[in-house]
Amino acid sequence: MSNLPKADELASKIDYMPPKGDWMDLPLEIKEGRYCYASNPKSVEYVGLPNPRSWNPLDDDWKLPENWQEIILNGMRERLDRFRTFKVFMDVCVRCGACADKCHFFIGSGDPRNMPVLRAELLRSVYRGEFTKAGKILGRFAGGRKLTLSVLKEWWYYFFQCSECRRCSVFCPYGIDTAEITIMGRELLNLVGLNIDWIATPVANCYRTGNHLGIQPHAFKDMIDFFCEDIEEITGILPEPSFNEKGADILFITPSGDVFADPGTYTCMGYLILFEYLKREYGLKVTWSTYASEGGNFGFFTSHETMKRLNSKMYMEAERLGAKWILGGECGHMWRVINQYMDTMNGPEYQKSHMETPVNPITGTVFEHAASTKMVHICEFTADLIKHGKLNLDKSRNDNIKLTYHDSCNPARGMGLLDEPRYVIKNTCNHFYEMPENTIREQTFCCGGGSGLNAGEDDELRMMGGLPRANAVKYVHEKHGVNTLGCICAIDRAVFPDLLDYWVPGVGVTGIHELVGNALVFPNEQERETDLRGEPLPGKEDE
Ligand code: SF4
Ligand code: SF4
Repeated sequence: MSNLPKADELASKIDYMPPKGDWMDLPLEIKEGRYCYASNPKSVEYVGLPNPRSWNPLDDDWKLPENWQEIILNGMRERLDRFRTFKVFMDVCVRCGACADKCHFFIGSGDPRNMPVLRAELLRSVYRGEFTKAGKILGRFAGGRKLTLSVLKEWWYYFFQCSECRRCSVFCPYGIDTAEITIMGRELLNLVGLNIDWIATPVANCYRTGNHLGIQPHAFKDMIDFFCEDIEEITGILPEPSFNEKGADILFITPSGDVFADPGTYTCMGYLILFEYLKREYGLKVTWSTYASEGGNFGFFTSHETMKRLNSKMYMEAERLGAKWILGGECGHMWRVINQYMDTMNGPEYQKSHMETPVNPITGTVFEHAASTKMVHICEFTADLIKHGKLNLDKSRNDNIKLTYHDSCNPARGMGLLDEPRYVIKNTCNHFYEMPENTIREQTFCCGGGSGLNAGEDDELRMMGGLPRANAVKYVHEKHGVNTLGCICAIDRAVFPDLLDYWVPGVGVTGIHELVGNALVFPNEQERETDLRGEPLPGKEDE
């Protein structure tokens, strides 16, 4: 961890005064607490990415290949040909500034290079200087510059200060998506081995064992069995989940954060309770995979190719097991990859022939929108069950919770999942309060740790980036006594506990299926004394 200043001190350092002079002349200062450590070479090597070596961003020498400029410029040329969006985004920005104050990293830092327009300009200026006639001839007068080592370092520092959340894109009149520019910037950096370890090692682990943490299949199963024992203690019901079962209707995949880290573990208990209930009441067959044991896709933060490789494991496992379709847990970037990229990167024949357009076997609902991906979000699935009266829910079991809901960026902006989580919340919880309108739904603010930035060493960056979200939570905390933030992303569940402790102490974090697990009533279950965290239920405090 870096030496993180106290919250008041950090807030008082934000300075929105524009610097004097041209932005191209601003010196680059790589500050402790605002960057993630460089990748472990073993992880880079494991997945076959280029130039594995130990290097330190604070050193002058980043140990680049001799022809690094040629590699990057060739990579850029190739991508300008291959991705029409990239080419368009390099050409059409009119620098109107509508996006300038929309990035949480700019709001929380005041650093002008965190304005989306300027973040994109870091790359666009090189595009002009190296690829356009006017830029080649007129240089700075045409907004162009050459790709020098200091420019490359600036790219690395600032493209790893963007959480690819797409909030800026909502406000751009031309539809420019700066997250896409960051994705390209990072992909180019990876061509010469400039990555961060909080991405490279999860990618290597996922490639090797099926999940980011490198947990072996038997340990994955042990963890879930352990949750089942806890559930039995609380409810008297022992779930008996199925693993790697051939012929189950549905393969369930969730981010491994739900299995290995609090408070995601309580969300995981919620899934287990729901599936057990559906098995007993309606004979639903859901199976977990101990091999494709990760929904999240850190390849997305690396390159299109790496994203594709990690995405494929879920579909290969569905094929191996003969599942009709995949149910996905509360994850962020898993859904962005599935909804925004998967079809085009894999082609129409990719989903194997035995997979079917998902149908809820209990309600008969056909999830037409998932016809090509064969994958349904658990909030859609649960909302559908509630709508058809298939769950017996006792909302009062969550009466100790005063909840607000954070629209996780990827499910909200990346797939438009806005109403289903709210529907589930309103059916499982009596006290729900929205944050201010311009901070929710499509305009939601990022947690500050997305896209692989949730590391210990960049805590100052994350606290700055999470300030706008925390500020909105503070508002409902003070106005309505909100004590819990709900979300549907494992990165959120990992980031928010520290972030809220820092800016809004007294607000905890929950996944939505933890609320479902608390509220769901089994026929003949024992009277519960506690919630899934072992805290007394409302009214049971003194017993
Ligand atoms: S809003 Fe769009 S066009 Fe305007 S400066 Fe930002 S990226 Fe450029
Ligand atoms: S994608 Fe998000 S983090 Fe990146 S520049 Fe836009 S608003 Fe900022």
